[in-house]
Amino acid sequence: MRFSPSIGHRLFPISILILLISSSVPAQQKQAQQMDEDFARSVKEWTTRPEFISPLVDHLPKVAGAPSPKDSLGYHIGAPKKLTRTTEIYSYYRELAAKSPRVKVINIGQTDEGRECLVVIVANEETVKNIESYRGYLAQLADPRKITEGQAQEIIARAKPIYHLMGGLHSAETGPPEMLMELVYRLAIEDSPMINTIRDNIIVTITPVAEPDGRDRYVDWYYRHKIDETGEDDSMGGPPYWGKYIFHDNNRDINYSQVTMRNLLEWYLQWHPPIMHDLHESVPFLYTFSGQSPQQPTLDPILYGEMPWFSNFEMSQMIKYGMPGVWTHGFVDMWSPGYLAFMSSNHNGMIRMYETFGNGGANTMKRKVAPPEGAGQTSREWYRPLPPYKEVEWSMRNNTNFMETGVLSALQLTSEFPKVVLENFYKKSRNSIEDGKANAPYGFIIPVQKAGTRARLLVNLLRLQDIEVGVTNAEVKLKDGTFPAGSFIIKRDQPYGRLAKILLEKQSFPDQNLRTYDDTGWTMGLMLHVEVKEIADKAILDVPISPVRTLDVKSLLQGEAKAAYAIVNDGSNELITLRHRLKDLKVQATEQAFKTDQFEVPAGSFIIAVNQGADVRGKVKSAAESLGLLGYGLSNMPTAPMHEVDLPRLAVYSTWGNTQEVGWVRHAFDKFEVKYDLIYKERVKQGNLRDAYDVIVIPNQGRSGKGLVFDRDPGRKPLAYSRSDQFQSQGMYGESEDITGGMGLQGAIEFQKFVEAGGLLVTLGQASFFPPEFGLTQKIEAGRPSPQFYAPGPIVEAEILQPSHPIFYGYTQKTIPVRYANGPLLTVPERDREQQVLMRFPGGEKSVLSGLMRGVTETRNRPAIVDVPTGKGRVILFATNPCYRWQNHGEFAMLFNAILHYNDIKSNEKKPAQTAEAR
Ligand SMILES: [Zn+2]
Repeated sequence: MRFSPSIGHRLFPISILILLISSSVPAQQKQAQQMDEDFARSVKEWTTRPEFISPLVDHLPKVAGAPSPKDSLGYHIGAPKKLTRTTEIYSYYRELAAKSPRVKVINIGQTDEGRECLVVIVANEETVKNIESYRGYLAQLADPRKITEGQAQEIIARAKPIYHLMGGLHSAETGPPEMLMELVYRLAIEDSPMINTIRDNIIVTITPVAEPDGRDRYVDWYYRHKIDETGEDDSMGGPPYWGKYIFHDNNRDINYSQVTMRNLLEWYLQWHPPIMHDLHESVPFLYTFSGQSPQQPTLDPILYGEMPWFSNFEMSQMIKYGMPGVWTHGFVDMWSPGYLAFMSSNHNGMIRMYETFGNGGANTMKRKVAPPEGAGQTSREWYRPLPPYKEVEWSMRNNTNFMETGVLSALQLTSEFPKVVLENFYKKSRNSIEDGKANAPYGFIIPVQKAGTRARLLVNLLRLQDIEVGVTNAEVKLKDGTFPAGSFIIKRDQPYGRLAKILLEKQSFPDQNLRTYDDTGWTMGLMLHVEVKEIADKAILDVPISPVRTLDVKSLLQGEAKAAYAIVNDGSNELITLRHRLKDLKVQATEQAFKTDQFEVPAGSFIIAVNQGADVRGKVKSAAESLGLLGYGLSNMPTAPMHEVDLPRLAVYSTWGNTQEVGWVRHAFDKFEVKYDLIYKERVKQGNLRDAYDVIVIPNQGRSGKGLVFDRDPGRKPLAYSRSDQFQSQGMYGESEDITGGMGLQGAIEFQKFVEAGGLLVTLGQASFFPPEFGLTQKIEAGRPSPQFYAPGPIVEAEILQPSHPIFYGYTQKTIPVRYANGPLLTVPERDREQQVLMRFPGGEKSVLSGLMRGVTETRNRPAIVDVPTGKGRVILFATNPCYRWQNHGEFAMLFNAILHYNDIKSNEKKPAQTAEAR
């Protein structure tokens, strides 16, 4: 009965198939266990074609006392129109763990909205009982400096690999959190040779829902708006939020800024799973990531052998079961290390990833798989020998069958070669250390420098990933230079030395003709504006250092404040935090640098007189010291020109259709304690913006002026995002009875009135198409590069043209690194250039500092920031995105300065335009 009768479909003669299956799937030979007939009948009914199921998943054992998913949820996994919320998912695992000694549930932290983050462990009883010993073995293999080769072999003989699976990172990809419940039940309960081998030889751990807040919000949305969808044409789309701040970018959070992602990293670094497998949904029917080019060359070459080893095994198994549409190449590449599951390959493990075909819900629907012209992903290729169909009726159960069959095949392979997986993990860890001894760079030095708090942040971000950082107690002399005592040293002969190199070095994209899935550049020193010196002198490995756990905030106030404190503007982003924490005090900014007997105070530093009420010294001291800001006590008030740093009434504008980039700005504002209102079209259309706000920031969103103004297409009916008793996760971070339609022309006019009446409008990245395209800055043109231009997130030079503009307080260099944001190519009329262009892209090949920009001449001398006085107010357009994914901290201060000095920006004297070059 285990051979699904469906297997003998039209693709192969039945006799050949049975021969293949019976010789290769011993797992399904004898079944003493009772099977759940209702399950078999149901999944057969929900599977839309006989070839969309495999003998691994067409049955489910029924064992008294062990709750199956249906016993807990009331439905089998893959039931049409059923999606499960996090609470019920967690309850199921806990019920199963209560009954089965093979299952264990551990809490690894909380989400932004207070939901639990869990990891579920499933293995045989002995393994689960002694799980701490097995965790210890992997920790030992992860750091081979502490063991001999002989000890490593002994440990490998006793150890078992952990295979970690993640579902639900992307909330619209609804299948994996469902499938994983059935998988864990099957792994715990089924008695078959294949499952028994998996259970005995390896440890399976899973993240049931990687983004719990988003899961619940999406499931609520599904039941409210999507449950009646019948196909692609009547899709209502998704909710305006998944997690608190971001959507897909939870898979691009290279610095683990989001609490849910950080929980997982912390868990990872304690458990060291050699394999981490992230389950996604998009392309048909199952794509298994094999690590195609461009490949990150610093990672161990063993990895690039392992990845296709697994994906080819899965593909051949599934083809053998008769399942079409399984493929391994031509989709995602191995360049960016910022995807969540890269935490494994970055730490000498193996990243794995699937895309299965999903319907964005649990409805069965007809799907067109190929584009109207051509075959798309249904073409036959060497890596896609049995392609997906061009049209298909697709169900949640199909999705479950494919994903679970693939995962079981991967677990089968791991359980047949557990020692190979462990040896590879150990060898990659050992190689990382050896590579650091054998090949330059041998390390990196962060010299003691005036980088303000960003140097501390950089060290702590490296430490978050368990990269070892030390501090020197004496001056260091190397061929690369002399570095003072107190400099930070990252040696490469450490288990995560390769990761340190990947994060700190310049990214040299290997082939201009290759495209990549995400960013090409992320060099941390450039992103944070912190000097990081690459060291080619091997002597760095012998420099004595004291290890740094994390860098605590240090008190940096000097001198007695007889008259005032000067809080130094060294570009520290915490200055804006300080201003908010001292909101009841008068804070001024010096418009020019000045010197006292002891100190040099740069322009933009805060001057806080102490004669303004009780205990000003105490308040300033505690606020500045708790933020690690550098400050000096002054004997006299400075005579330099100053202006008051008063806080604006600030709003951040978000469309309903593109909240993610807004979310990154909100996240940064929240982290730095910047107070703001989040406003949507509803507020803008009410008008009178100027009465309520001094500054409105429109973060990168919309892709064009029209996209920002008209946003989501109106649907067949109003699309409410509002809280109700039934849908508690809706209406968070804003409410609307209809999120479609955008602010429209009426909204654009309200923004224009706001500026005319004296408001400051700041647009970031692609939102900077809006003011030129809708006439708020009538003389500015916003263009686009040619189709040949390609700039996936490189870091490029920008040249500051007006260094005394308040936006550049804290910036001391004439050229600075910025992340290229694919904002508009702006043109300012020649006579206004000198006055209005604050920063520009010099262009030229050597202005590309890290990553790829193809067609770099197209950006030559294009404005990067433009300040346009308009009516009584002004519009500041950033073609850059100065607040990108918690990465480019060196750029944040430009945005923060615009906010802090909003009413103290003086337009340049208008001069004849003979020198202006910027277009
Ligand atoms: Zn995804």
